[in-house]
Amino acid sequence: MHRTVCSVATLTLLIGLTATTTVTDTFAQSFGQITRTPIANKLSLLSVGEAVNGAFVGNMVLLEDSGEALLIDTGVPQIANDLLVGLRDSGFTLSWVVNTHHHLDHIGGNDAVMTLGAGVLDPQESRTVTVGESKVVVQKLPAGHSESDYLVHFPQQDVLVVGDVFVPDQYPFVDLSRGGTVGNLLEAIDVALALAGPDTKIVPGHGEITGRAKLQELRTIIAESLESVGNLKKQKLTEEEVMRMQPTRKYDAVWGRGFVGPVAWVRQVYRSL
Ligand SMILES: [Zn+2]
Ligand SMILES: [Zn+2]
Repeated sequence: MHRTVCSVATLTLLIGLTATTTVTDTFAQSFGQITRTPIANKLSLLSVGEAVNGAFVGNMVLLEDSGEALLIDTGVPQIANDLLVGLRDSGFTLSWVVNTHHHLDHIGGNDAVMTLGAGVLDPQESRTVTVGESKVVVQKLPAGHSESDYLVHFPQQDVLVVGDVFVPDQYPFVDLSRGGTVGNLLEAIDVALALAGPDTKIVPGHGEITGRAKLQELRTIIAESLESVGNLKKQKLTEEEVMRMQPTRKYDAVWGRGFVGPVAWVRQVYRSL
């Protein structure tokens, strides 16, 4: 009995050591002020918790498979050098860069990273590439957050990267000046929901990794907002009048504390209709 316990203990220790060694080897690279954390097999999140010189940095995702890599988004210019050094010293070939969209907090390191010779993936519809043994599907979305929104799906890892189409617990920013509309955003979220299963990890443009339920919650809020604001607009109420009625107030306490407050959210919905 004692021997068995001992063997189990030894085995556990060995597994523990092996796991630690693997993690250390894979994550040894220094990305400076960027933190690298595992998401799933061969996938990691590159993020900066605090704002850098006042600029919030979009989440970045790195796929590393069999000596090849693909990077989604490149943060702000202030961290471009840390990103470049981390990627360069990692020992893999960076084959592709994908931008979830073209706001500066997601493309700020593009020029620096491109010096490593990567190609840019920005297909007009949907395109699948293989990196090592991993399949990566890059899909153009309807113009919701901006005019150039992309979703990236890793079917083997069961991970979706959706950019700023979704930031948990924040009303979405819809760049009306660049062709985004709230209706299109709803369609974009439906594309993501159709790909998401119960265990899918969803990487938002900012903030924590979440799952299907949280994205579904946002879908409900957007659909209800479109309906309630739409009804008021049909009754010929002005934007100011609709904003004063606070039609989204039951969600404001949780979802209205971010970059887009309750008034701005209602304005975006009204102007999208
Ligand atoms: Zn962003
Ligand atoms: Zn954005």
